[in-house]
Amino acid sequence: MPICAICGQDIAPADDSEEHILPGAIGGRRTVGGFLHDGCNHRSGHTWDAALEKQLRPLALHFGVKRQRGRTLRMAVTTTAGENLLLNAGGQLEMARPEIKRTPIPDGETIAVKAGSIAQARDVLEGVKRKYPKVDVEAALAGAEIQRSYAKGVVRIDLNFGGPLSGRSLVKSALALAHVTGLPIVQCRDALAYLRDADAEPCFGYYYVDDPVDGRPPAMPLHCVAIDANPETGLILGYVEYFGIHRAVVCLGRDYVGDRLKAVYALDPRTGETVEVAVRLDFDVADVRAIYDYERDDAEKRQQAFGAVFGPVLGSHQAAERDRVVRDSLNFAWANCGGVPDQPLTAEHLAKLMELFADRATPWWKHVTGLSDAAARQLALAYISQVLAVTQSTPVKP
Ligand SMILES: [Zn+2]
Repeated sequence: MPICAICGQDIAPADDSEEHILPGAIGGRRTVGGFLHDGCNHRSGHTWDAALEKQLRPLALHFGVKRQRGRTLRMAVTTTAGENLLLNAGGQLEMARPEIKRTPIPDGETIAVKAGSIAQARDVLEGVKRKYPKVDVEAALAGAEIQRSYAKGVVRIDLNFGGPLSGRSLVKSALALAHVTGLPIVQCRDALAYLRDADAEPCFGYYYVDDPVDGRPPAMPLHCVAIDANPETGLILGYVEYFGIHRAVVCLGRDYVGDRLKAVYALDPRTGETVEVAVRLDFDVADVRAIYDYERDDAEKRQQAFGAVFGPVLGSHQAAERDRVVRDSLNFAWANCGGVPDQPLTAEHLAKLMELFADRATPWWKHVTGLSDAAARQLALAYISQVLAVTQSTPVKP
């Protein structure tokens, strides 16, 4: 009968569970059986894995992790300019709280609502309706004006990671891979001691001396777990990496007896697809000590690893936002320029269309260039005139 990695008791078939090698909440897919009791699985999920997920959530939101179940919860953030906002999946920011402005008038009051989304505006209006039953929520929403604005500051991502809860989730991942590879976990004494004893010394350390992952796909926020059990050194080593950024070497045990055993599980958390890479874990006992003592950690290299995956994602967010702004602005301009469907636009309609486009799109150009309103508007106008010039010589209203 298999024994539970956490409590050490036998696992009867009725108490067995499917444990994710990497937590499902950060995009892990592959599971192992005969590794944890159902109860131990739940407890470690709600404590260790939950702490890990919370630390990694800003990254999960920016990269857009594709989970098998559930969604990444959005989170409250404060920008460098002191704005309180919500960070959504895909890296989009939203107003944290609606702004409600009440102005008394002779026979009552007018209420102006500025909200981060239609859903948020609806919540506010439903509240107003409880006080004023005659308020028509749907009519008010239908007449809402959509404005686009951008945060003045930037969101800082905290790269601090670790602690006793997240650390145990990390070691559990390496141990789960060892188990599914056929390595008897009773040989992983260091890992078992750490998982079972709250006072045990952590059996891992951060590693940034070089890149142990061979064949790393460029710019991918890779999740990776690897093990290497070597009878020559007696070491059972593990490696765990999250989002291509947080990288740790684990020592699962030191008295390994058996054949050389290696395994890697790596995936792209944005798609859930498995990735083929190799991981070099040729460390000796002295290396392990140095890794535990933070001698192989390097804040600057961690920052570089972050830049390598985060730069590209910011670029793609910006391109997606530009496409969205152009599409929305153009739709608005077509609808309001006065043109007749299927008829060529007159010069007057065209001029109006360009001005309407610029009205809508200028905030984005201002946001990305940092230019004045007037200069940003010139860029928006230049863009739309180019689009219209290449579309057709005489634009027809769609
Ligand atoms: Zn158990």
